[in-house]
Amino acid sequence: MSATEYDYDLIVIGAGPVGENIADYAVRAGNDLRVAIVESELVGGECSYWACMPSKALLRSGHALRAARRLAGSKEPITGGLDVAAVLARRTEFTSGWKDDGQVAWLDSVGIELIRGRGRLAGPRAVSVGDRVYTAAAVAIATGSVPVLPPIPGLAEAAPWGTREATESQLVPTRLVVVGGGVAGTELAFAFASLGSRVTLLSRDGLLDREEPFVSELLAAAAADEGIDVRIGVGFERVDRDADGTVRIQLSTGAEVSADEILVSTGRRPNTGDLGLDVVGLDARTAIAVDETMLVAGTDWLYAVGDVNGRALLTHQGKYQARAAGEAIAARLAGEPVDDAPWGAHVATADHAAVPHVVFTDPEVASVGLTEAQARERGLDVRAVEYDLGWVAGAKLHADGYTGRAKLVVDESRGVVIGATFVGQDVAELLHSATVAIVGEVPIDRLWHAVPSYPTISEIWLRLLEAYGRPQRVTAAD
Ligand SMILES: Cc1cc2nc3c(=O)[nH]c(=O)nc-3n(C[C@H](O)[C@H](O)[C@H](O)COP(=O)(O)OP(=O)(O)OC[C@H]3O[C@@H](n4cnc5c(N)ncnc54)[C@H](O)[C@@H]3O)c2cc1C
Repeated sequence: MSATEYDYDLIVIGAGPVGENIADYAVRAGNDLRVAIVESELVGGECSYWACMPSKALLRSGHALRAARRLAGSKEPITGGLDVAAVLARRTEFTSGWKDDGQVAWLDSVGIELIRGRGRLAGPRAVSVGDRVYTAAAVAIATGSVPVLPPIPGLAEAAPWGTREATESQLVPTRLVVVGGGVAGTELAFAFASLGSRVTLLSRDGLLDREEPFVSELLAAAAADEGIDVRIGVGFERVDRDADGTVRIQLSTGAEVSADEILVSTGRRPNTGDLGLDVVGLDARTAIAVDETMLVAGTDWLYAVGDVNGRALLTHQGKYQARAAGEAIAARLAGEPVDDAPWGAHVATADHAAVPHVVFTDPEVASVGLTEAQARERGLDVRAVEYDLGWVAGAKLHADGYTGRAKLVVDESRGVVIGATFVGQDVAELLHSATVAIVGEVPIDRLWHAVPSYPTISEIWLRLLEAYGRPQRVTAAD
C-alpha cells in the first residue's frame, strides 16, 4: 500500500505539547503530509491545564511578594499577604478556563486535523477512535503519563487530591498535607503555603533527593521559613477521611497528622494503558522503548514520544524529542535520508547528556546534566566545585541576605562541564548558560573567556571557574 492509500500520512495519538509538536514539525517539513491528531480530553494536554502552567501561575505571585519583602525599601510598605482570589483567577486565565478553543484554532490554522476521542492501535498502521478505524503510514503515540497512587491502606477511599485537583482547585484548604518530596510535591507545598494553607509535607525519601545534596538542605530551611512542616523518612500506616471531611494520616511512628485535604504526588508512569499495544506485540506495562529518532523498537511505522517513552518527564524535553521525531517521520515518508548520528537533526541526544530542569520553589532549584554522584556512578573521572551564591555581588544586590549555592561537575578527561546545579532566588534564568556549555562541550579553558556582566548573578560562573582553577598559561618553553 502506498502512502496515498492510507487515510493519513501520520496519526498522532495525544494532543499534549508533545503530540502538537510532532504534528506541527511533520506538517512544517513541507511535503504536504496529511496529519491528524487524536485527543480524548483537551488539546494542550496535562501541561497546559493541570501541570506546568497552572502550578507556575500558583507559585509566581508568592515569589514576587517574597522578593519584595527581601529588599529594604520595598518591604516596608507591604502590610498584607497575597490576594488569593486574584492569584486563583490569574491561574485560571493561564489555563484558558480549561477550554481548548485557542489550541483547536491553532491546529486548524496549521492544517492538522483534530479527531476527538480515545485512540487505540487497531493493528499495524491502524488507529481506532470509537467505532472508526483510520489508517496511516506512520503513527506516533504521545499519550503522556499518569499519576501513581502509593499502596497506603485507606488512601484511595479517602479521595485524595492528585496534582490535577490541586492545580485546578478553587479553594485553599486551611490545612493541607502533601505526600511526596519530589518536584510537584515541593512546588505545590510552597504554592499552597504562600496562599495561606498550613502545609505539612510528608516524604518517605527526601526532598528532591536526586539532586546535589545541598539542594534538600537549602530547600528544607526555606520550607521551614515559609512555615511548612517537613517530615522526611516517614512511613505510612493508613489514611482515613472522617464524615466532616477531615483527613487523618497515621504514620508508622504512631504519630497522627490531620488536615482538611491530602495531596498525593509520589510519581508518574507512562500512560500506556488501553492503547492496544498488545495488538502490535508491545508490552503495556512498561515505558515504550524507542531509538534515538523515537521509532519504536521492532517497527518501521510506530513512534513513542514525550512522557510515554519515559526518557525525561518534562515538557521541554518531550517537545525537543517531538521536533526530532516529527522531522524524522516526514523524512522517512518522503524517502529522504535521516540524520540519526549523535547530535544529528533527527535525534534527541541531549536526553542522555543535558536535560535541564527547574523546580520553581523559593529558592528555585535549576540543574542540568549529571550530578557528581551520577557522574561517578558512570565511572567518569570528575572534579566538582561549589560556591556560595550569597557571596556574589549581583546576588547580594538582588536580595538582602541572598541565600544560595551552585556547583559545577567537570569531566576531567575531556575538560568540559557535564553537570551544573544552582539554588537561589531567580536562578532559573541562569540555567540555559549551563545547558549551552554542556551541549556545546565548551572547554573549561574557553569558558574562562565568557565574561559574565558585573554585577549580575551570572558572576557565579567566574567564581566557580576560579574555584576550579585558572587555565594553564602556555610559556615559550612549551
Ligand atoms: C504538577 C506538575 C507540574 C509540572 N510542571 C512542569 C514544568 O514546569 N515544566 C516541565 O517541563 N514539565 C512539567 N511537568 C511535566 C509535564 O507536564 C509533562 O512532561 C508534559 O505534560 C508531557 O507532555 P506530553 O505531551 O508527553 O503528555 P501530556 O501533556 O500528558 O499530554 C498527553 C495527551 O494525550 C491525551 N491522551 C492520552 N491517552 C489518549 C488516548 N488513548 N487517545 C487520545 N488522547 C489521549 C491526554 O488527554 C493528553 O491531552 C509537570 C507535571 C506535573 C504533574
